[in-house]
Amino acid sequence: MSSLMNTFGTRTLTLVRGEGSRVWDDQGKSYLDAISGIAVCGLGYSHPAVTKALAEQAATLIHVSNLYNIPQQQHLGDLLTQFSGMEKAFFSNSGAEANEAAIKIARKYGNDKGVKSPSIIVMENSFHGRTMATLSATGNTKVQIGFEPLVEGFVRVPYDDVPAVKAALAQHDNIVAILVEPVQGEGGVRVPAADYLNQLRTLADEHDLLLMLDEIQTGNGRTGTFFAFQHNGILPDVLTTAKGLGNGVPIGACLARGKAAEVFQPGNHGTTFGGNPLACSAGIAVLETLRNDNLLTRVQYLGDKLLAGFRQALAGNTKVVDIRGKGLMLGIELNAPCPELVQKGRDLGVLINVTAGSTIRLLPTFILTDAEADDLISKVVQLVTEF
Ligand SMILES: *Cc1c(COP(=O)(O)O)cnc(C)c1O
Repeated sequence: MSSLMNTFGTRTLTLVRGEGSRVWDDQGKSYLDAISGIAVCGLGYSHPAVTKALAEQAATLIHVSNLYNIPQQQHLGDLLTQFSGMEKAFFSNSGAEANEAAIKIARKYGNDKGVKSPSIIVMENSFHGRTMATLSATGNTKVQIGFEPLVEGFVRVPYDDVPAVKAALAQHDNIVAILVEPVQGEGGVRVPAADYLNQLRTLADEHDLLLMLDEIQTGNGRTGTFFAFQHNGILPDVLTTAKGLGNGVPIGACLARGKAAEVFQPGNHGTTFGGNPLACSAGIAVLETLRNDNLLTRVQYLGDKLLAGFRQALAGNTKVVDIRGKGLMLGIELNAPCPELVQKGRDLGVLINVTAGSTIRLLPTFILTDAEADDLISKVVQLVTEF
């Protein structure tokens, strides 16, 4: 009997080592990893810059509390604000915690300006985390059932539907923020209309709302820009990120700008571990590597190559409903639920994920070689063809 709570079901694969874009199991079999620890290890496994930063920091100072100055936290905050155009950062240990900070900013922003019962517009099919507030914001009843009463203060509308946001604003006078993913990840790699975020920005300005982007998955280079909103030439008021930021070391960030950056005052929010020297040293190594190795260009190139490869090889395949993506977030939607493809992929030596029932989701590393990208295309095409 396992001593672990049964939150993850039965797990049959044990990975013990990773290098580059490959991982090895306890039987010595190797796999091309096309999910990167769920969009976490963008730089791949055992990346020398991350390993070096962690080893040096671990040998110097792993943790001090936020009662003291933490130069690594300041440095990472400088890099993140510089790369994103945001002004202030708060560091957490996870994506959900970064979103908790954003939700608290929205509520305090509303309460400070005298809005009674301030509410946040959230989207259908969204995913924002597993804490009580973030699961309440999430647009998936599977995440919520059994945990009622949910946290109130969320108004839900369909994703990629600007008229629905306008209707919600007309109906409710207590909306203070919009929380949205630039591309829905867990919801099935849904890419909205090219000007969706621009239109939300305009509405937020007209109604004095905070535009809060959940870039926990899309951030840190995943879509080919540092943050996905940079494809739109806008700036959000609040930006959350996590997954890829530490390349596997737990760290999240809530960034804010303008009026949103001034909401938290001493005593309003805090954390014991968040922003500690070890986690921040990993974040610094990741951001500097993304920049110095020109990896955003590589992500764009690889994303285009994979998308074109799948579209060409699967053209006319009647089982394929849609092939979509942005950078290295790719989805192949089939016409029937396909969870068994995860195991079939393992048999072929490739790790993939199936989300929203019938969408193959690929989140490869940014350091995939061209040969590995070709191998990934041919293996996934084989899985779909034999499905
Ligand atoms: C993964 C994810 C989260 C939750 O992050 P955790 O680190 O698991 O708490 C929130 N939002 C989005 C968009 C995510 O992909």
